Amino acid sequence: MIDEQLVKQIQTIVSPERILTELAERYSYSYDASFGECLPDIVIQPKNTHEVAALVRLANEHHIPVYPRGAATSLSGGSLAVEGGMTLDMSQFEKKLTIDRENLLAITTPSVITGDIHKKAEEAGLFYPPDPSSSHVSTIGGNLLENSSGPKGLKYGTTKEYVIGLEVVTPTGEIIRTGGRTVKNVTGYDLTRLIVGSEGTLGIVTEATLRLIPKPLARKTLLASFTSINDSGHAITKILSSGILPSAMELMDNACIRAVENYQPSGLPIDAEAIVIIEVDGHPAAIAEEMVNCEGICWEQGATNVKVASTETERNEIWKARKMVSPAIMQMGPTKISEDATVPRSQIPAMVEKLQKIRDKYQLNLVVFGHAGDGNLHPNIITDKRNIEEMKRVEYAVSEIFEAAIELGGTLSGEHGIGTLKAPYMENELGRDGLFMMKKIKEAWDPNNILNPGKIFPQPGQTKVVLI
Ligand SMILES: Cc1cc2nc3c(=O)[nH]c(=O)nc-3n(C[C@H](O)[C@H](O)[C@H](O)COP(=O)(O)OP(=O)(O)OC[C@H]3O[C@@H](n4cnc5c(N)ncnc54)[C@H](O)[C@@H]3O)c2cc1C
Repeated sequence: MIDEQLVKQIQTIVSPERILTELAERYSYSYDASFGECLPDIVIQPKNTHEVAALVRLANEHHIPVYPRGAATSLSGGSLAVEGGMTLDMSQFEKKLTIDRENLLAITTPSVITGDIHKKAEEAGLFYPPDPSSSHVSTIGGNLLENSSGPKGLKYGTTKEYVIGLEVVTPTGEIIRTGGRTVKNVTGYDLTRLIVGSEGTLGIVTEATLRLIPKPLARKTLLASFTSINDSGHAITKILSSGILPSAMELMDNACIRAVENYQPSGLPIDAEAIVIIEVDGHPAAIAEEMVNCEGICWEQGATNVKVASTETERNEIWKARKMVSPAIMQMGPTKISEDATVPRSQIPAMVEKLQKIRDKYQLNLVVFGHAGDGNLHPNIITDKRNIEEMKRVEYAVSEIFEAAIELGGTLSGEHGIGTLKAPYMENELGRDGLFMMKKIKEAWDPNNILNPGKIFPQPGQTKVVLI
């Protein structure tokens, strides 16, 4: 309960203009990019680590839920204040970004926009590979806590592969450092990896040391069209098993192609059932040969057209069309439910088939795109949350998508995190004992369960089909 007395104590930590108590101010913090809505009791904009630590200590003493929040682009309800309490707006934290060229490192505070890290690293001739499509708006703090990734995850891995050190405020308000500035570090438990992807349930990140790599010398991109989505899936698995590791392999189904063309015509083939974008990077001579091989495999697997970008402008046009998918499908209906169930690469054709069956069974507007090269598909259901009858069908369809991914040896989430919606399915994937060990970790770090409660772990009585 946040009463006047407590607000007074908060005012001794943070200046009053950074404490938002009015309904209108708090209301804009009740959303993220999922479709949930939860109003925090108070919103605070800390500027530095000591303010965060003092606020968390106060919250812990009074058993008040604390919800860290970056740019709120989470698609799993990650930052929503599902139990009210205190939202900590980490996007207003002081912004500091240093590139250490000699050691190939970036040292950053959590409020820095990921796209700015890409830009600064490139200016120094370096490369920070994790590239969620939201990188122009999302914060590095949010990326760390969701272990985000994008097309380049296929070759370069996800955020966790690039985090070597953290400064963290624990749920009891201590300030700790994990890892360090060395790429090799095996001193004790790897708390850095534990915090990355913990969705703000174990600690609040106030600084991160990121590993950078040299920028690839060259890249080549192609766009292949298919009249059968299964053929496109086979082309993807064939290329991957041929010894080529593209830096990106993206799939868009016919509904996505049409959505993009309706939204902003980009010259995509509207009659194709699927298109695949393939990019290779590295030494110019090596990638020239790899591109010829990728092209050949696409033709062999039934492509009806394969176009290799011959200029940087043509490449940018291909990627622009891919980046247009999310905004384009948002125009198709008021509610977009974006899933990221991920399967082993060899199961991509089987997953695509299952998704088509689910779409037909529940008669839903389900479109598929995603990072097909690493099995991370994004089935998106376009619906209207006011249509109660349709939402029931959506719930069952979402449930079957999760079950299909797990059945095929995959996972509930490749990128977007568990948040609230996927929590009831955790035991299906981890087993009872696996989930129990995770709960033990949470209890040890956060004895009063104040940090982002209501996320990751199923709540008592929470049923499998539940949309927040
Ligand atoms: C159009 C669109 C495209 C997207 N594309 C991708 C994609 O390609 N790949 C991908 O992986 N995701 C994608 N996302 C999802 C989202 O952008 C990512 O999850 C992103 O990392 C969230 O960053 P954020 O700053 O918005 O964090 P938020 O949404 O505010 O928070 C995310 C989580 O991190 C926690 N958190 C935030 N900051 C801190 C901190 N400093 N300390 C502790 N916890 C913290 C929050 O509590 C929450 O659990 C997309 C979203 C949209 C809307």
